[in-house]
Amino acid sequence: MNLSVTIERAEQVDDMDKSIQQLSVRFLGVGGASQQGIGHASAVVEVEDQKLLIDCGPGTLHRFVEHYDCLPDAIFITHCHLDHVGDFENFFIRCLFSNSRKIRPKVFVPSAIVHLLQLRVASYPSPLAEGGTNFWDAFQMIPVLDTFYFADVVFHVDAVRHHAPNTAFGLGVKDTFFYTGDTRPVPELINQISPVTKIFHDCTTIGNPSHTGIDDILREYTQEKIQQMWFYHYTTEEDVKVFRQHNLQVVLPKDSYTLDIPGESRFPR
Ligand SMILES: [Zn+2]
Ligand SMILES: [Zn+2]
Repeated sequence: MNLSVTIERAEQVDDMDKSIQQLSVRFLGVGGASQQGIGHASAVVEVEDQKLLIDCGPGTLHRFVEHYDCLPDAIFITHCHLDHVGDFENFFIRCLFSNSRKIRPKVFVPSAIVHLLQLRVASYPSPLAEGGTNFWDAFQMIPVLDTFYFADVVFHVDAVRHHAPNTAFGLGVKDTFFYTGDTRPVPELINQISPVTKIFHDCTTIGNPSHTGIDDILREYTQEKIQQMWFYHYTTEEDVKVFRQHNLQVVLPKDSYTLDIPGESRFPR
């Protein structure tokens, strides 16, 4: 190996060392559509000072601003049920009228559900009474297929099982975390995930055609996989006891997990 190649490799290693090493996943709410006091399911991926909000059901934006005292830099939408997008109009108004940094938050949306998001949150005629503004003028919409960059980190997007096919998606960073969003069990997906990945999985105490239940978890996944899982999207604080009776790990509102990001998921600076 000649000297110039050696120096170049050393510089690459040095670049990687300067890149981001960790992220945190902080939950704002952990509940389903009929949650009672535990907030609608949503989390924030923190990468240095950049914050990516996952979903914005009713009350989520208030929880976000209360914690961070600013608006999100970006949002990822898992699917278009109102417990996940119901705060979008609030987000729109705040971006236009109380956005001191004058940013247009990025809205990462799986391309398969862009039309659903449009119908659910952006189709109201003349979103401002005075006219002259389109809903998406307040944001930077970025449709995504299976990967996207945020804060120099590579995120991947995978379809899950929630109502009609290809209408709900999970979000993750390889070998770091995977957030299922709302889903029935997805062993075909979860079994591909490495053992070092922390998995945040939809679960309520009793399953139904829309969501995973405790019996589904115990039937569909191996004990090794269950040990990687933390459960959310339940209904009341009382449910936590039931999860623990089955030795299942539960996410509580405001819980935060700091995780290492492997080199291949980081874009060198
Ligand atoms: Zn939900
Ligand atoms: Zn849902």
